[in-house]
Amino acid sequence: MTAPVAIQDCYVTTVDPAGSEYPSGHVVMDQGRVVAAGPGPGPQEFAGATRIDGSGRLVTPGLVNTHSHLYQWITRGYATDDTLFGWLETLYPFWARLTPELLSTAAAANLAWLALTGCTSSTDHLYVFPAGAGDLLEAEILAARRIGVRFHPTRGSMNLGQSAGGLPPDSVVEDHDTILAASQAAIDRWHDPSPESMTRIAVAPCSPFTVTEELMRDCAALARAAGVRLHTHVAETRDEEEFCLETYGCTPAQYAEDLGWLGPDVWLAHCVHLSDEAVARFAATGTGVAHCPTSNGRLGSGIAPVRKLLDAGAPVGLGVDGNASNESGRMIDELHQAMLAARYAGGPQAMSARDCLRMATMGGARCLGRDAELGSLEPGKAADLAVWRIDHLPGAGIADPVTTLVFGAPALDHLFVGGQQVVAGGELRTADPAELAAAEAQASAVIAGTP
Ligand code: ZN
Repeated sequence: MTAPVAIQDCYVTTVDPAGSEYPSGHVVMDQGRVVAAGPGPGPQEFAGATRIDGSGRLVTPGLVNTHSHLYQWITRGYATDDTLFGWLETLYPFWARLTPELLSTAAAANLAWLALTGCTSSTDHLYVFPAGAGDLLEAEILAARRIGVRFHPTRGSMNLGQSAGGLPPDSVVEDHDTILAASQAAIDRWHDPSPESMTRIAVAPCSPFTVTEELMRDCAALARAAGVRLHTHVAETRDEEEFCLETYGCTPAQYAEDLGWLGPDVWLAHCVHLSDEAVARFAATGTGVAHCPTSNGRLGSGIAPVRKLLDAGAPVGLGVDGNASNESGRMIDELHQAMLAARYAGGPQAMSARDCLRMATMGGARCLGRDAELGSLEPGKAADLAVWRIDHLPGAGIADPVTTLVFGAPALDHLFVGGQQVVAGGELRTADPAELAAAEAQASAVIAGTP
């Protein structure tokens, strides 16, 4: 039984329904949960709590990463000027060499970097399972437990290889029955539906151009029978739209809806090319969107209609996407990029700093079906929180601390996940970044075939 921990004299941004903020406030954690958040030093009953001085600090809910591909951490820097399809065709042969050891290295390094940039909960869309590669899902789940981040991995899949009219080479696709059996086994072994859960599984066939219609339908049925969520890529690029129009006779969003892939238990990555009608259908069905502005810019995919989705009431979270299409991989940067992308398209009022923070926290929690447990600093919610410097060289003196976070150059000071301190004073507590970096360099050479 550990004593409560109180962060005091800090600027608190709760992201509660009223958007409550306290310029000189407190957050108290106990037994893995937030027990108080408000103005002043905090309730008398917590006077004996371990105190952390929060002066010159901004406290926010931990950031939720709603879309990523951790294995890509060791294939960064390739096809830097290509479109999504060209980039994929360059990288599939590398990913065909994936092993549990390589993925363990990539996932630990990637999750460490996410933690160091404010992320307390991350999903992962793992869809490459080369034949005979071993237990890849186990490798990344154990890596997440080592780093200490709350984890929502997916059992992804591809079964539409080149010989069947798909994009990936046949060497990286699996057959339909293998995928369904592996998805069920992943749920049975790893999925924890409890409120404190550190591991929840979702089912995630990769995309319309790598998966058959039958697999999309059967994955949805399997996930719904098991009570787990569904995730895939939809409407990322014009190339994908053309593929869907030629192959299925409809847009990607319509294709998803026809297959039962819109609903409150679904969140979809990218959704860049959505009609107004599709935006309305996403909102009406409660379908979540993982907005990945850095990746969308890196691949020149376009600008997602996020303002329209938010105004319509659809859940929208932020994601770094795989780091082969977002080499910086900084979770906090997605808030900055989301603000810029919305404003490139819609002018200065298209996205505020607080809109971005809400997407990155409560929006992400909604996408993962955990808005009752995560995403805001309210008593009873998980003690997942990030403490940012606002007194450092690039931040001191900026008029509004939330502006520092989204428009400025934020620096993480502390990170707590379920009350456990993962980052302290800007340093990772759960692993040695120098060791992770040395291992990632070696793994990157191995997967490139140049060790
Ligand atoms: Zn992706």
